[in-house]
Amino acid sequence: MKRVSLIIPVYNEEAVLPALYARLCRLMDSMPLYEWELLFVNDGSIDASARLIADFVARDRRVAVVELSRNFGKEAAMLAGFDYVTGDCAVIMDADLQHPPEMVPEMLKYWEEGYDDVYARRRTRGDESKLRKAFSRLFYKILQKATCIDVLPDVGDFRLLDRKCIDTLRTLREQCRYTKGLYAWIGYRKKEVECDQQERVAGKSKWNFFSLFNLAIEGITSFSVSPLRISSILGICISLTAFIYMVIIIAKTLLWGEAVAGYPSLMCIILFLGGLQLLSLGVIGEYLGRIFNETKHRPTYIVRSYKKHDADDGQE
Ligand code: UDP
Ligand code: MG
Repeated sequence: MKRVSLIIPVYNEEAVLPALYARLCRLMDSMPLYEWELLFVNDGSIDASARLIADFVARDRRVAVVELSRNFGKEAAMLAGFDYVTGDCAVIMDADLQHPPEMVPEMLKYWEEGYDDVYARRRTRGDESKLRKAFSRLFYKILQKATCIDVLPDVGDFRLLDRKCIDTLRTLREQCRYTKGLYAWIGYRKKEVECDQQERVAGKSKWNFFSLFNLAIEGITSFSVSPLRISSILGICISLTAFIYMVIIIAKTLLWGEAVAGYPSLMCIILFLGGLQLLSLGVIGEYLGRIFNETKHRPTYIVRSYKKHDADDGQE
């Protein structure tokens, strides 16, 4: 019997967990030809999520939970999920029911046909604000231009991955993770299915504008060095212009004598160049910071405990 796992990162989702579990049970019961595993990754929740999940584990032998020692973020939580999941394939799903579990049978159908990575593309983006949608579009445009990998817009983390993909993703241990880019980077046979993103059932989104901006910088800097290249190209262009300008000034001075005027233009140029230098330094700093983080070789997440039903394999 093939084993299908569901990986669900959870951070303070007490309001939706009972509804989620009920919906997932309905899904699992409707497809008894598979052996199911429901793996929650508790990303350091500080509400009643841990207790609710512990209840599920005690009640249901299909449920397992990885508890992280604190909140490491969704990207790290997903990596923990990949490490602990045992299925022949795994579906990653948000806890807030924005990803309809009813899509899973269709994904499994394509998996059975031999696809390794079946991802859901959102036809609609649920209850997101206009500003967030606009920034998201802009970000994907920049990312497409800056990198050679095909990170698809409107495709989130809701996807089915074959064991091959999971094992490959597990070998990519970078700490500044941008998993959406990694899915594209690893390749394999991909298949798209369409879904309507639902509204969040309860609770609030954990993302704010700042964290999304960070994720965007993460995405661009971890898959491309074009910002560095743009700095170099800009540097070359400006040095060249400055050189030509210098020749003109020297010629003018030699031919017509010294001109005293020119304070405003001088100021403009100094300020412009100063700004540009700071910007380039910032770009270099961004990459240097990443190197600094990666060279520490810290684990991406720390596990406090892993529990399965009956605690037969439980380890503290
Ligand atoms: N999540 C997590 N760790 C975090 C933030 C979020 O594991 O630090 C989980 C969260 O519980 C949910 C999923 O990631 O299952 C998506 O989060 P959310 O719904 O807040 O994001 P959005 O749908 O707004 O992008
Ligand atoms: Mg959500």
